[in-house]
Amino acid sequence: MKENWSADERALLDNLSRIREEIEAACASCGRKSDEVTLMAVTKTVPPERINVVLRAGVTCIGENRVQEYLQKKDDLLLFGVRRHLIGHLQTNKVRQIVGQVDRIESVDSVHLAKKISDVSLEKTGKPTEVLVEVNIGNEASKSGIEVAKLTELIDEIRTFSGIRVRGLMAIPPILSSESEKRAIFSQMRKLFIDIRDKNMDNVSMESLSMGMSSDYIQAVLEGSTQVRIGSALFGSRS
Ligand SMILES: *Cc1c(COP(=O)(O)O)cnc(C)c1O
Repeated sequence: MKENWSADERALLDNLSRIREEIEAACASCGRKSDEVTLMAVTKTVPPERINVVLRAGVTCIGENRVQEYLQKKDDLLLFGVRRHLIGHLQTNKVRQIVGQVDRIESVDSVHLAKKISDVSLEKTGKPTEVLVEVNIGNEASKSGIEVAKLTELIDEIRTFSGIRVRGLMAIPPILSSESEKRAIFSQMRKLFIDIRDKNMDNVSMESLSMGMSSDYIQAVLEGSTQVRIGSALFGSRS
């Protein structure tokens, strides 16, 4: 273990400890076990040497938004034992580049995209790719994600594709909501997650509920998130 941390490394590690403590406290306050919640470090725009500081400190999952950026950085990351998720909107023409390079794609929101991931996975790696279905929980015209009303139908259709495995749901709530509105939205996500889990559909395992970012991860944990995606609270604001 390195002893002489720089000021930036020290700040990153302080942020990480604070976030971990807050997640633990939120879990404790609602009777959840803290190992039910994974802390994902969202690494978009962050250079590899800073990402490696949190990986050395035991972060086990990273999320990247852009295919190109991830492919450029990945060889410089200390990725042994670390899960890599793509969390940004994915265009079908980028699917071939990313399949096999990440452990999970969290941003599936159409049959077309799911089919492409499935076909490319079987062809390129011979194995299915884990995916989450991204839900447009605020029904915002500007956002990606499937509408709530069409969610079950989408899952029912894509679960038959043998090159993907549906592992849960992901959501980004509307930006302008108040704390109580956010909790209501997270709670609605949790209900959708449970409803779908209780349908026991073949080839669907509802194990991950990916919600909560820097400004609202505590509310998300209180409402049942199993994975928070944290960028700026960990690495500082993005320029
Ligand atoms: C950037 C991003 C995050 C992290 O955002 P912060 O507010 O910086 O924590 C989480 N999820 C997705 C999909 C993102 O694009």
